[in-house]
Amino acid sequence: MDYQGIVIRPPSEWNSIILQVTRGCSHNQCTFCGTYKGVRFHVKPESIIDRDIAFAATYCKRQRRVFITDGDALILPQDRLLALLCKIRRALAWVTRIGLYGNAKSIRTKTVNDLKALREAGLGIVYMGLETGDDVTLEKVRKGVNAQTMVEMGRRVMEAGIKLSVTVLLGLAGPDRSQDHAEATGRTLTAMDPNYVGALSLMLLPNTPLGQDHEAGRFKLIGPVEMLQELRTMMTHTELSAGLFHANHASNYLPIKARFPKDKEASIHLIDQALGGHIPLKPEFLRAL
Ligand code: SF4
Repeated sequence: MDYQGIVIRPPSEWNSIILQVTRGCSHNQCTFCGTYKGVRFHVKPESIIDRDIAFAATYCKRQRRVFITDGDALILPQDRLLALLCKIRRALAWVTRIGLYGNAKSIRTKTVNDLKALREAGLGIVYMGLETGDDVTLEKVRKGVNAQTMVEMGRRVMEAGIKLSVTVLLGLAGPDRSQDHAEATGRTLTAMDPNYVGALSLMLLPNTPLGQDHEAGRFKLIGPVEMLQELRTMMTHTELSAGLFHANHASNYLPIKARFPKDKEASIHLIDQALGGHIPLKPEFLRAL
């Protein structure tokens, strides 16, 4: 397979066929994200994509899922994306789900009917970075949209019958807005009501504006206790009709996997136990991305 640069995928796609169709991210402005810094967004040549699909058709017969990278492959024009999904389905008939990253800006380029057509062609899940529901923080980290648009775009994906997985970032607002960020994010998740939520802890990268702000003393990273307090507030303000709330990413201090609404109270109790010192937190050296 032809992989160029850093290729990332959601943890749940660990066993998927990773098909790199685009390079970079069409937005590429978020101050905390260093994945595609210096990469000009473009779609890879058709011939390379076709070669990769042919390779997967021969050598990836045991993998039931395909994940299309890079950053926001949903930005591909509708006709092109539909043709790609059809090609994947034809060549890899055993594949049961195709997923990709889609930010709110790229979802906005599709109507509900467009998304329904993509679902019928095999698109089963969209992974969206919400990061925070706090408009002040969204603007500061240059996410490009506000919380209301995030909710509308997330709901548009689910209205089309496509599963929605949303990530939020603990620590993103710094110490001063920590609790505002947590509360607003909980309320935004409630309004969106996605199928999956993944809470990650912010890790600063030196090649990002936020990492550089940290080095210059303009941004303070909160510690493990504040991260947990944020997670507690976020979960308290989150109501999901039947979603899975994960906070078990490698970057997190306390692994949590909760089916809402039934596991919500027990998870908050677990956080309280950790905050009270009754459960040890993951040591710094075991945290990684
Ligand atoms: S939209 Fe996602 S991939 Fe693009 S810069 Fe922001 S966080 Fe990074």
